[in-house]
Amino acid sequence: MKITGTGIGTRIAIGPIVRMPDPLPDPPSGPSSLGADAELARAEHSLSAVAEELTERGAQAGGQAQEVLLAQAQMAADPALGSDIEKRLQTGITAERAVFEAFAAFRELLAGMGGYMAERATDLDDISQRVRAHLQELPPPGVPSPDFPFVLLATDLAPADTALLDLDKVLGLVTVEGGPTSHTAILAREKAIPALVGARDAAQLRDGQRVILDAARDALIVGPHEAQLLDAEQRIAAAARRITAALSHGALADGTPVPLLANLGSPEGIAKAVEQGAEGVGLFRTEFMFLDATRAPSVAEQQEQYRTLLAGFPGKKVVVRLLDAGADKPLSFLNDAPEENPALGVRGLRALRAHENVLRDQLTALAAADAETDADLWVMAPMVATVEETAYFTGLAHEMGIKTAGVMIEVPSAALLARRVLRVADFGSIGTNDLTQYAMAADRLLGAVSHLQSPWHPAVLKLVSMVGKAGQTVGKPIGICGEAAADPLLAVVLVGLGATSLSMSPSALAEVRAELANHTLAGAQTLARLALDTSDADEAKAAVRSAISHTQ
Ligand code: PEP
Ligand code: MG
Repeated sequence: MKITGTGIGTRIAIGPIVRMPDPLPDPPSGPSSLGADAELARAEHSLSAVAEELTERGAQAGGQAQEVLLAQAQMAADPALGSDIEKRLQTGITAERAVFEAFAAFRELLAGMGGYMAERATDLDDISQRVRAHLQELPPPGVPSPDFPFVLLATDLAPADTALLDLDKVLGLVTVEGGPTSHTAILAREKAIPALVGARDAAQLRDGQRVILDAARDALIVGPHEAQLLDAEQRIAAAARRITAALSHGALADGTPVPLLANLGSPEGIAKAVEQGAEGVGLFRTEFMFLDATRAPSVAEQQEQYRTLLAGFPGKKVVVRLLDAGADKPLSFLNDAPEENPALGVRGLRALRAHENVLRDQLTALAAADAETDADLWVMAPMVATVEETAYFTGLAHEMGIKTAGVMIEVPSAALLARRVLRVADFGSIGTNDLTQYAMAADRLLGAVSHLQSPWHPAVLKLVSMVGKAGQTVGKPIGICGEAAADPLLAVVLVGLGATSLSMSPSALAEVRAELANHTLAGAQTLARLALDTSDADEAKAAVRSAISHTQ
């Protein structure tokens, strides 16, 4: 049986399915047969057991995961929650029901506060599930940990789950929900494991069923036969050879250079990027460093981080993106008013402009770090929609000592007016994640519309093509820094559309480097034309795949 979805990356895994337990159903609201005191003792025992377990798991995980898990442990031990549960038990309900109701009430409270607090509301659901599982002596929800390698199947994966994955055991990830920019997809790319997201029919699979997860072909083969296994094993071996091949600069078969750069979210990723042969940084997401900050970071604080980043790439290009706050990445010091549609609200450059002191501080810190190091610093603004915004940003950046100032092209208006935008900016960098979301009017976080979120869609490719042509006409470089650049075949198409560099999560560099080397510029342009001349993403991908299989 073959199940389809959206493959992330090009890797393949063979192994048994292990399902992540489904969430517990809502407990019945009927009366307890044990009495309030006994129920209270049960509830207290389970709450403290869960707090302890979360603390322990945090200590095992370390780093950022530890912070998340410790915060969760504190929530489980929160005295206000404890007394709310006790009050509810006086009405004669079970401990399961009282825990369920009290956590749900706190969740509402947090969600109503908006911003960071609202983001934490889903953590309460997770803890509620854990406590209720403990009460019923069921396995806790979350990532199972059998002692053999497996393909993990989940409805969807929360960040707290993904942080704890034991990657020696998890061969691949399959989610029923989620799209190409979901958490699972980002994690899979980062960790270089194959994933299939939005695989609706996988919901029916059972533990222990043997599968081939074939991300390159967007498929999960259930109960494969011998020939399929042999083919998969050969492709796994070939991929392993490509990954260990000597590092070289990104280039097409005819020698056309295509610099391959890294997407980073903190200076911690530098070593891995260098090890994978990144020729610099194409997207440094500065907002990732300050997601938990309650006040704007100081110039000195920022300068230190930027200095570390730039020092990691002497003589190389490093593109830093200014704080991209809003929507799924709110920063409390930039996004202060609740919005109905935050993806269309005061985000990116709009939010920075509304807090120009924060924008100026960031530019000051970057210019100072640049003066102390010898990387080639480029700075770009996120979510630029107009020529006027481009002029505002590049003017201010130059005035404040930034030598190379460009814009992200991730809003369709900027792509449509790319020639005018690029006359003003020093460079453009296409963010295919948001460009796809806005071109297709499909929320990048919403599983229900994931079928519309493919950057292979010819509507998205047309916009990329306009930007590529504008770059050539005006003589300005055009990078790609969205997840699309990490898809080896799509990367070739993007170069054919005029991209002059590609930036991606470091673990994707080897596969993209290998694929580029199979195509000339003329060949890439032919593939780009084929993809453009289709009606939807599946057709575009199929057209390119079939053209390649005829020439190889
Ligand atoms: C993008 O939108 O493609 C992009 C690179 O930015 P982010 O994913 O951080 O929004
Ligand atoms: Mg973006």
